[in-house]
Amino acid sequence: MKALQYRNIGQAPEVVEIDTPEPGPGQVRLKVTAAGVCHSDEYIMSLPESEYVYGLPLTLGHEGAGIVDKIGEGVKYIEEGQSMAVYGPWGCGLCYECSSGRENYCRNAGTYGITPPGLGAPGSMAEYMIVDSARHLVPLGDLDPVRNVSLTDAGLTPYHGIKGSLEKLHSGATAVVIGVGGLGHVAIQILRALTSATVVALDIDEAKLNLASDVGAQYTFPSEAGAATMVSDLTNGLGVDAVFDFVANQATLDLGQGMVRHQGDHVLLGAGAGNLKMGLVSGAAWDVSVRSPYWGSRSELFEVLDLARSGNIRVHTEVFSLDDAPSAYEKLKNNQLLGRAVIVP
Ligand code: NAD
Ligand code: ZN
Repeated sequence: MKALQYRNIGQAPEVVEIDTPEPGPGQVRLKVTAAGVCHSDEYIMSLPESEYVYGLPLTLGHEGAGIVDKIGEGVKYIEEGQSMAVYGPWGCGLCYECSSGRENYCRNAGTYGITPPGLGAPGSMAEYMIVDSARHLVPLGDLDPVRNVSLTDAGLTPYHGIKGSLEKLHSGATAVVIGVGGLGHVAIQILRALTSATVVALDIDEAKLNLASDVGAQYTFPSEAGAATMVSDLTNGLGVDAVFDFVANQATLDLGQGMVRHQGDHVLLGAGAGNLKMGLVSGAAWDVSVRSPYWGSRSELFEVLDLARSGNIRVHTEVFSLDDAPSAYEKLKNNQLLGRAVIVP
């Protein structure tokens, strides 16, 4: 079968021919219908060899959907031909966190070396993929896999991040989304669907700001140093109730910190890193909660898919064939995609 693999540190991923995998006991093989292109893939492919821990060659793709094609020994309650989305943050299924569906915070994944598809295990950018357990399949039903595959990460991750701040997003509140890419443009829609907060979006690219308005942001601003003041002015200088930062580099950390109000939430979802001023006399707002959530829970994936079924969220997708997948990554790297790129094998 064909697969898109990251094979050499620092080089672009390649389409290669590899053996079609067979499902072992307890596993399920999917004939892949769609695979989403995430900036996290670009992040891991930018790492130097000393920091790269995902194994080589790596079949990419941690957003996946497919048709159940072959069922391993002992797997019950699912049938060949069913259309499924893949829950990606695989855990052990046994610990306290996994028992409540929060496999994204599995306490044993490190010990047992359990890794997500496309981020260690072979991913969805191939004609077929192996899912380690039927527990990690969520029925898509009538939802179009191509338009909805990215909800498994670009929907689930912002959903999980926003759910943790719902208490603060009462009517009259203001929420800010920094970075209107794959995740950010879905975050805006989730905020509009779940809360009555005013939604403000920031990006460095004008086309992304137009997309932000199209999907429901009430205000948009170029992401530059003066933006913190412009956003604060919308709140009469009080500051905003929650910032969701899908970039999280030093520039956006500073921006977020410059606009969040006392007792607000500062939620860092992007794969950046930097420093925040902390402490009572640091000049930072008081009693702010800073969180760095990772992906989301199994039940939250059901909830996100239901938001799509009810028409509340819609992923803006750009479709590529598997042969063209390297060019999708090239465009992602150059920030030339709008919404999410989806590979259809
Ligand atoms: P993307 O490339 O689709 O979007 C990134 C957006 O950020 C683009 O619109 C870009 O114009 C914008 N941007 C870049 N610099 C900016 C700045 N200084 N200010 C404002 N906007 C800026 O990326 P994506 O796939 O949506 O992923 C977003 C981030 O989330 C990535 O860092 C990714 O690794 C991370 N991520 C985290 C999790 C998690 O579990 N927390 C899950 C998936 C992705
Ligand atoms: Zn991702």
